Amino acid sequence: MSHAPTPAPERFDVVIVGAGAAGLLAAIAARGAISDDGSTHAPPHDAPTVALFDSMPQPGKKILISGGGKCNLTNERVTEHDFAPVGSKIVRSILREFPPAAIVRFVEEAGIPTRIEPTGKIFPAEGRRARDVLGALQSGARRAGVVFRFGHAIDEIDRPAPGDGFRLVTRSADRDGATGTVHAARVVIATGGRSIPKTGSTGAGYTFAERFGHTIVPTRPALVGLTSAHPAGLAGLTMPALVLVRRDNGKEIYRSAGSLLFTHQGISGPAGLDASLWRATAPVSDPDVVADFWTLADPNGPWRAFRDLPKPPGACLAESPNATDPTHVDAFLRNQAALHPKRRLASALTQRLPRSLVDSVVADGDTPLAELRQDARRRAAAAVTRFDLGIRGDAGFERAEVTAGGVPLGELARRTLESRIAPGLSFCGEVVDVTGRLGGFNFQWAWSSGYVAGRGAARIPAPDSERRGDSA
Ligand SMILES: Cc1cc2nc3c(=O)[nH]c(=O)nc-3n(C[C@H](O)[C@H](O)[C@H](O)COP(=O)(O)OP(=O)(O)OC[C@H]3O[C@@H](n4cnc5c(N)ncnc54)[C@H](O)[C@@H]3O)c2cc1C
Repeated sequence: MSHAPTPAPERFDVVIVGAGAAGLLAAIAARGAISDDGSTHAPPHDAPTVALFDSMPQPGKKILISGGGKCNLTNERVTEHDFAPVGSKIVRSILREFPPAAIVRFVEEAGIPTRIEPTGKIFPAEGRRARDVLGALQSGARRAGVVFRFGHAIDEIDRPAPGDGFRLVTRSADRDGATGTVHAARVVIATGGRSIPKTGSTGAGYTFAERFGHTIVPTRPALVGLTSAHPAGLAGLTMPALVLVRRDNGKEIYRSAGSLLFTHQGISGPAGLDASLWRATAPVSDPDVVADFWTLADPNGPWRAFRDLPKPPGACLAESPNATDPTHVDAFLRNQAALHPKRRLASALTQRLPRSLVDSVVADGDTPLAELRQDARRRAAAAVTRFDLGIRGDAGFERAEVTAGGVPLGELARRTLESRIAPGLSFCGEVVDVTGRLGGFNFQWAWSSGYVAGRGAARIPAPDSERRGDSA
């Protein structure tokens, strides 16, 4: 009996696994069709062949749901300090390769004007939405000659022989689930994290990385609601607050300043979500999370620009002020007692703070100030400046905007994000252990790291890295 010959596997110079934000940018960059200022052009005639695989028949779901369907593309000001791990020089140099202005130029040249919010968040302008951004990226990739293989998951990656490129096993999303094989000289893993798995991000990239010998910084949900045991009376309250993430000796690890929302289950809102990032990446396993309600309630303080807006800003302040020392509130109450001895403690505090907050967190609210004992006054001062939010956990990967942890930067080459362990394999986007705070920083990481990994995989040298003074 004669058998039909098995067709030779398709071969590409570069295969990109994952067509989210990072993978799309990586694909355009690997074809050499985008510059570091975000301008696009036809790929050179000798551009490598690039295929973009995604398990989802219609990928880009996270772009579509981002920013409430409006897509907070990036931020006006992005530095390595907006990310965990904080202050990484590698992150700094990658951000410089493809800065916020570049993605703004890319989308604007695609006919999508942008707007900047007071906290620096950059969105498509009124009337434009996330789907326009996804459309611009997909058309850019198509125009650049990227071969789309949507609805095809990559199930396995191996290297049959050293120096011989990679063999990738594909599986169709069709009902038949047909499998196949493709071959690539180089592979870029842009599979995202584990958050909201129904968008396609199921954590496959970590398995590929481990198979090639990488370590994985343990993954945790981040930018996610935190569950807490706060008083029931707080549920539904939104107010500006500093949220402090601390070691159990009280030493501060991080501080977010923004609008805090108390839900029935716990806390959310920008300050709560941001706190979840620093809690997930804290150097201690169970940090304290406490709130200072006093500092941002100051009518002349750092929150004054936002006090009268119809809606609180959807991001934290770029620079959080120091938390108020409880002795300051203690002194305020003593002063009030001298001026209005009959005034009740709760009334004194509601000059600045919402009634429902004061009633829920402060004991002895009915006591006239003149009768308030020193220890009760100090307890009240601590309750409004160091309120223990009683965090128990988080709402999990199903609800998290991002995944903290992943492939450590130290195992990747600084200029190309290529594995130092498995040459030819690179990583970009959320699969890497870089997580931004709320405000467009995660997409900026996806754009910048996608650009760097795509060019690296295509072996396109970074033209001006010497000018930038980065060393390898
Ligand atoms: C609700 C929500 C709102 C958000 N809003 C914002 C915002 O406004 N601004 C911001 O900066 N960030 C926002 N983020 C975070 C941001 O969406 C992510 O950081 C970013 O999308 C990560 O991009 P990525 O390309 O690395 O991964 P992803 O976008 O997760 O893309 C990974 C892709 O890989 C594919 N894939 C996975 N495994 C395989 C496999 N084995 N084979 C083939 N394909 C595979 C997936 O199907 C997916 O399409 C938001 C996130 C959520 C969940």
